[in-house]
Amino acid sequence: PESKLPDVKTTIFTTVGNLARKHHAIDLSQGFPNFGADPKLMQLVSRAMQQGHNQYAAMPGYYGLRENIAEKIEKLHGRAYHPEKEITVTVGATQALFTAITAFVHPGDEVIVIKPAYDCYEPVIELNGGRPVYVQLDAKGYRMDWEEFKEKITPKTRMVIINTPHNPSGKVFTKDDMLRLQEILRNTNILLVSDEVYEHIVFDEKEHQSASRFDDLARRSFVCASFGKTFHVTGWKIGYCVAPEALMHEFRKTHQFSVFCVDHPVQRAMAEYLRNEDHYLQLNSFYQEKRDYFLKALKSSKFKFTPSEGTYFQLLDYTQFSEETDKDLALRLITDHKLACIPISSFNVGERQDGVLRFCFAKKRETLEKAVEILCRI
Ligand code: PMP
Ligand code: GLN
Repeated sequence: PESKLPDVKTTIFTTVGNLARKHHAIDLSQGFPNFGADPKLMQLVSRAMQQGHNQYAAMPGYYGLRENIAEKIEKLHGRAYHPEKEITVTVGATQALFTAITAFVHPGDEVIVIKPAYDCYEPVIELNGGRPVYVQLDAKGYRMDWEEFKEKITPKTRMVIINTPHNPSGKVFTKDDMLRLQEILRNTNILLVSDEVYEHIVFDEKEHQSASRFDDLARRSFVCASFGKTFHVTGWKIGYCVAPEALMHEFRKTHQFSVFCVDHPVQRAMAEYLRNEDHYLQLNSFYQEKRDYFLKALKSSKFKFTPSEGTYFQLLDYTQFSEETDKDLALRLITDHKLACIPISSFNVGERQDGVLRFCFAKKRETLEKAVEILCRI
């Protein structure tokens, strides 16, 4: 049968992860922590199972958890989303993004995607008959050119997808960026999908500027978040989406027929945990310590870098000592040096942007020590 996604291959995260295991490489490729989550959280999942929360949860998510999410957003960003009508718990941010795009993109619609882009947006746009339209962050500073962005808007533009803090560059949109975006979209019917999975991982006194903070963005936005990232449990696949009532109403039509609901005991545990802990408020300093260690150690290496502003990724530029493509060098690092990372060109459809590799520093100190030792030898 004719493929609906003829150009899509297995994701780079699976390919490199498999290769890393095969070569027993230190794995700084796919973004996940190699340290444990809070044991209290695991006890809460076990308790929820023992208490009998083992059947379907409510379709939009366990209500208690939706209340916690509403409280968290109001505390951090000053906007009140109604737990009944405006919040849905999802199977990670991936399903939130899939659902928001699928529920609204019609054949022929254009969706603006900012490159480099995380890999789960474009295939979903295409599955729905939409067309990704790209705006490129500038290659060195990864800054956004809002004039170029404005020029890409046409009567066919249905949606814009942003990601802040940004994977892979670590760029964090400033308040000024968000205000520019708000002005450009004002008086249009364009929807905004705001991928904010790294919302709690921002460094150097910078502040995460959620789309939910800005009135005229919030009214058109699906804000997508990930508990996997925030609580060091990427394998639990739990996240959420918030949007104004009318948008969420449509979102749920698709949600109920793709997953119906999310793992019930995990939702109970998350709700209980969020009620008692402010773990996520300490995440910035927890990861900043890791980033700082990684970068300090790399000062004596041949790589060039600008410190990541957010996320748990750091880009390293190798152009001053190698002319290899990023894919070739990433492969050679695995086979010859037993260290795995992600070549940045994997985030760029169609175009080559070489010279840069992405490393995940959500790792134990001993893993980072081994990694920097290798990187300083190269
Ligand atoms: N968006 C971005 C930018 C990501 O890096 C990830 C990560 N893994 C996701 C979405 C998906 O999040 P989740 O694992 O919660 O599905
Ligand atoms: N977001 C993770 C990364 O960028 C990957 C998650 C996945 O493989 N789906 O590394």
